[in-house]
Amino acid sequence: MYDYDLLVVGSANADLVIGVERRPGAGETVLGSDLAVHPGGKGANQAVAAARLGARTALLARVGDDGHGRLLLDSLRAAGVDTVGVLVGGAPTGVALITVDPSGDNSIVVSPGANGRLAPSDVRAAASLFHASRVVSTQLEIPLESVAEVVRSLAPDSRFVLNPSPPQPLPAEVLAACDPLIVNEHEAKVILGDSAGVSEEPEDWARLLLAKGPRSVVVTLGGEGALVASAEGVTRVPSVKVEAVDTTGAGDAFTAALAWRLGTGEPLAEAAAYAARVGAAAVTKEGAQVSFPTAAEVAAL
Ligand code: ADP
Repeated sequence: MYDYDLLVVGSANADLVIGVERRPGAGETVLGSDLAVHPGGKGANQAVAAARLGARTALLARVGDDGHGRLLLDSLRAAGVDTVGVLVGGAPTGVALITVDPSGDNSIVVSPGANGRLAPSDVRAAASLFHASRVVSTQLEIPLESVAEVVRSLAPDSRFVLNPSPPQPLPAEVLAACDPLIVNEHEAKVILGDSAGVSEEPEDWARLLLAKGPRSVVVTLGGEGALVASAEGVTRVPSVKVEAVDTTGAGDAFTAALAWRLGTGEPLAEAAAYAARVGAAAVTKEGAQVSFPTAAEVAAL
């Protein structure tokens, strides 16, 4: 019996958002809107998304001993995430400095801060969390050597889910553990490198990615839904038609939902169909964590 349905290992950031009429050039100053501060980071987002759906969720992460770190801990606890694995100190909390222009386009500068100090030794020290978790999910906003240590720390029967974002080439050891590897189109192209150019068809990317070693692959296609690929073949998962307001965090909500449902024993295509409903619900509201639905809201969609 596992204590947690899902252990997320990953980043926690404070998102500092300012609206601007236009971006400043070098040496220039522009005035913007009032500052908005939101809890974010792909790890914290996934943990909050899963907990809101009702999954028993823990987060292994590192934040700074500062106000942003306390904001993140408060939002995680409010969503019901177990924060026993959230380490404090070593560097300032990770920050994303985001400017948004009137057309809604973002420019983002990320300071990884404490996320970059989540070390392989921190992963090893959390062995009891790994043994208590049915599914472990991570992303690439923490050091790659720590992601590799996550793979080595998995309990024998647990399942590993990776969203390689921001994307970079992955070691074979990490690829082989993914069940599934979850990518959007951009991530698929980076992971595939030169071989992505052979086709514009997401079905082909899914097959090429599968040939790199993961046990299964999911390609998310925004408003077009997703594709799942495994030894049994490639299946399309339809999207749910909604009025998209803000797609921030849709991928995080999708990944969290998929990871949780796989842990309940649901087959990949069905878990992905549920995750697509969660992703669709998340795009109907502004923001990332505040847009993540409860299970009741997913059922009502
Ligand atoms: P990412 O945020 O990582 O780029 P996607 O944009 O592909 O990920 O979104 C993840 C999932 O969320 C999609 O596979 C889909 O199921 C759902 N989703 C995203 N955008 C929409 C949309 N406009 N309408 C309906 N569902 C969406």
